[in-house]
Amino acid sequence: EPLIELRDVNKHYGNLHVLQDINLTVGRGEVVVVIGPSGSGKSTLCRTINRLETIGSGEILLDGRPLPAEGKELARLRAEVGMVFQSFNLFAHKTVLANVSLAQVKVRKRGREEADKRSRELLERVGLASQAVKFPAQLSGGQQQRVAIARALAMNPKALLFDEPTSALDPEMINEVLEVMQQLAAEGMTMVVVTHEMGFARSAANRVVFMADGRIIEDRTPEEFFTAP
Ligand code: ADP
Ligand code: ADP
Repeated sequence: EPLIELRDVNKHYGNLHVLQDINLTVGRGEVVVVIGPSGSGKSTLCRTINRLETIGSGEILLDGRPLPAEGKELARLRAEVGMVFQSFNLFAHKTVLANVSLAQVKVRKRGREEADKRSRELLERVGLASQAVKFPAQLSGGQQQRVAIARALAMNPKALLFDEPTSALDPEMINEVLEVMQQLAAEGMTMVVVTHEMGFARSAANRVVFMADGRIIEDRTPEEFFTAP
C-alpha cells in the first residue's frame, strides 16, 4: 500500500480549476519530482498533500488512512509529513538550535535536553554543527534551508514535501541543499519535490510527474521522461 495517495482530488480558486482529477500514489522510499510551468498547480498540489490547502472533492490517504479535513487527527497525521518551503520560514529571533528544537518540544512533547541533543545530531547531518548558536540572519540562504530541512527531520516524518526548495537561493548555494536532499533520498526517505532542478530529477527521482493547467499530464520514470521523443 502506498504511503501517500491522492484519489480524484479537485480544487478550485473561484473559477480557476487549480487541481483537476489528481490521482497520485507515492510509495514508501519513493522520490517523486513534480515539474511543470509556473501556475500549473505544483505548489497547490504539494500543500494539499498535508492539507495546508482544503480540497473541493476527492480523498487524501496517508498510510492507507484518509486525512480528515480538520481536527486533532489531522494535526497528528500532518506532523508525519514534513514540509520545506521556498522561503525557509525560520523564526528570526530564535537560534538555529532553538528553531530545530521548538516543534519537538511543543508538538512531540520531548524534553528540552532530549530535543536539543537530537537537533545537534541533525545539524551535524546537514553540515551545520558549528552554526547552532547563530541566528538565521547570520547564515547564508543555503545554510538556512539546510536548517529548515533539519527542523523537518526532527519530527521523524514518514515523508517530506519540498516546494521549490532551491528557487530562492543564489546559484552557488543550490548544490549544498540538493546534496542534502540526495542524501535523504539515498537513505530511503519518501519525498515529493517540486523543483526546476532537472539534474536532481534525473539522479534522485523514482518518478517524474509533469503538471499543466492543474492536471497531471505525465507520470513516468526519469529514464522514460528524459528519453521520450
Ligand atoms: P505553481 O506552483 O505550479 O506555480 P501554484 O499552485 O502556485 O502553481 O498556482 C496555481 C494557480 O493557482 C496559479 O494560477 C495561482 O495564481 C493560483 N493560486 C494559487 N494560490 C491561490 C490562492 N490562494 N487564491 C487564488 N488563486 C491562487
Ligand atoms: P508559490 O508559487 O511559491 O506558491 P506564489 O507567489 O504563487 O508562490 O504564491 C504565494 C502565496 O500567494 C500563496 O499562499 C498562494 O496561495 C497565494 N496566491 C498565489 N496566487 C494567488 C492569487 N491569484 N490570488 C490569491 N492568492 C494567490
